[in-house]
Amino acid sequence: MTDRVNILIVDDLPEKLLSLQAVLDELGQNLVLAHSGREALRYVMERDFAVILLDVNMPGMDGFETAALIRQRKRSAHIPIIFITAFSDDMHTARGYSLGAVDYILSPVVPEVLRTKVGVFVDLYVIRATAERLAEERIELARAQADRAAAEKATRRSQFLAEASRVLGGSLNLSSILTGLSRLVVPLLGDVGAVLWADEAPEQAQIFLAWRQGDGGEIHDRPAPRAALHGELADAVALTLRDSRSRAFGPEPAGVPLWAEGAAPEGCSAPQLVLGHGALFPLSARGRTLGVLLVARENSATPLAENERDLAQDLANRAAVALDNARLYNNIQEADRRKNDFLAMLAHELRNPLAPIRNAIHLLRHPSAQPAQQSWAYDLIDRQVQHLVRLVDDLLDVARITRGKIQLQLETLDLAHVIASAVEASRPFLEARQHQFVLSKTPEAVLVRVDRTRFAQVLTNLLNNAAKYTPKEGRIELAVERVGAEVLIRVRDNGMGIPAEMLEHVFDMFFQVSRSLDRSEGGLGIGLTMVHRLVQMHGGEVRAFSEGANLGSEFVIRLPVAKPSPAPAPTPIAAEPSAAAATCRVLVVDDNRDAAQSMALVLTQIEHDTRVAFDGPSALAVCEVFQPHVAILDIGLPLMDGYELARQIRKKTWAAGTTLVAVTGYGQESDKLRAETAGFAHHLVKPVAPAVLLKLIADLQRQQPVNAESKKNASGGAVFAE
Ligand code: ADP
Repeated sequence: MTDRVNILIVDDLPEKLLSLQAVLDELGQNLVLAHSGREALRYVMERDFAVILLDVNMPGMDGFETAALIRQRKRSAHIPIIFITAFSDDMHTARGYSLGAVDYILSPVVPEVLRTKVGVFVDLYVIRATAERLAEERIELARAQADRAAAEKATRRSQFLAEASRVLGGSLNLSSILTGLSRLVVPLLGDVGAVLWADEAPEQAQIFLAWRQGDGGEIHDRPAPRAALHGELADAVALTLRDSRSRAFGPEPAGVPLWAEGAAPEGCSAPQLVLGHGALFPLSARGRTLGVLLVARENSATPLAENERDLAQDLANRAAVALDNARLYNNIQEADRRKNDFLAMLAHELRNPLAPIRNAIHLLRHPSAQPAQQSWAYDLIDRQVQHLVRLVDDLLDVARITRGKIQLQLETLDLAHVIASAVEASRPFLEARQHQFVLSKTPEAVLVRVDRTRFAQVLTNLLNNAAKYTPKEGRIELAVERVGAEVLIRVRDNGMGIPAEMLEHVFDMFFQVSRSLDRSEGGLGIGLTMVHRLVQMHGGEVRAFSEGANLGSEFVIRLPVAKPSPAPAPTPIAAEPSAAAATCRVLVVDDNRDAAQSMALVLTQIEHDTRVAFDGPSALAVCEVFQPHVAILDIGLPLMDGYELARQIRKKTWAAGTTLVAVTGYGQESDKLRAETAGFAHHLVKPVAPAVLLKLIADLQRQQPVNAESKKNASGGAVFAE
């Protein structure tokens, strides 16, 4: 921009132009001369003018027309126009002023007057232009400063988030991530940063705290229990955990103390921090809010700015992902550790009974074994096998129960009957350890809606545990008490008790207070898991209590009391078998030769005519000539599985009266269904107890008496087909 301003002089007469120029030269500005309205318009389009002197009387386009066109153009609409006219009447016509003329001068001009008037407009123009220039410069300056500040802020922000990613992603250890996160807050976002981690039960949540001691002071961090939080703040935290939304908190007149007067958390040497303005941000990942990030200023009256809140929210989002990853990793590690512990214990528990069995067999084989020793050895084998079967049954049971794969057969029963059968089953355990057993019942009958087998299993488990975890000659009590619409069943012992910190875990799968105790009666740490699940399935709850080590334990079941149901129709009493069971032709098919042959021997002992086969095709060949009454088929056979073998047998005309019995290692409902479709009438789960098998055959005989001819043909021996 030059220092001189432009002044436009428009007149069709050159001599008048010259005289005007001479008058105005003194102003020392840049004079532009135009000889017509058209020429004037051209100049106006090219540059800015401080003022235009316009002759009214011009040929062609006169002064008024020229002024009208100047006003129409945006670029020139604001330029002051001074008309020069010989007649003041011209200007008095409204037209001159309506065209925005700012003044007029009568011709011939008085040089002083003209210079003064034009000089005023020149000054105005200069002032305005300078002001504009200054304003523009100021805006430019401000813009540059703002850009620099914004750029600095963006750099600080990205550096902060990069640091945050490094801290949060650098570890899979929850505590170090939580401490790191609280430290990240100070000092960029606030003077106090805290993470309230409520992954477990909220009342056990932990605070990870970081704060700055005075302006520019050192940053400290401490973990502290949440119980220490100040009332209102604790409420806001609970709300954030619940609704997963961030919220600001403002200071009360005196600020918000982090914890109540004199209630500084135990073991936390942090001073009482008084918070000014601050905000809480949820730490949410995969739809769950596991904690809250607190950002606060100590004693400050200004709330967090929007960009600070955005940054804190961004930090909270990144932290939540890192924390969730660490949590998943820890859970996997914990599950893996528990699984390894369990497998080691399972191997140990399964191996335990094998050593005495092996010793007993050795003893039985010895030619000098006395009958008393033999009988002792048989009892031992029987006991140990029962123990093994119980372990395996429990294992299969817990898997099915916890996956909800069993269905309860609910009946309305007198609780006393269920208790009686449970006590019966536990009696050997109670007696073996010479415990005193006390049963206290309610005077009147209490009806409950339960599955009789499963509920007895619950009580047996509790009684057996009481017997197991109480030293010899202890006292075990089962008490029933009716409370309103519920019945409480307490199983109490005066044994080794359960430490307080373990009480809440005893129902966890594979949990055992001690693995080092004498575990000759040991289980797999799944009994109480089954108890818990089964009681839940019955609409009740079970809880464990203990005063501590060696002060005994108590397990209390709460169950709703049932209303009496209509009396069931009397069940017909089964007719007693009229004669001794007849001999029956039984085929046993199993690729485990020991299993097949030992079962055949058991059957032969009571004079059933028995054949054995070890695979499907040879079983079919035996069948053709033997035509069994009962065929007991293992399902997992080589060459042809048990289902296929059953289908083949079913096709034979002679097999119309043959009963097929499936034997499998799995007791799933789906297996039973499959067996039924293949033509099996019964389904037994391995290992089949001899008594169960013999009873099944006896029942079949009762339903379909074996005819005299088959009895005559029966040889009463066992033949093994290869
Ligand atoms: P286990 O097969 O080990 O007995 P449970 O699931 O039945 O498994 O019980 C889990 C753990 O709870 C036991 O290992 C034992 O430490 C503890 N426990 C259960 N019942 C009692 C009791 N009556 N007294 C003391 N401890 C008990």
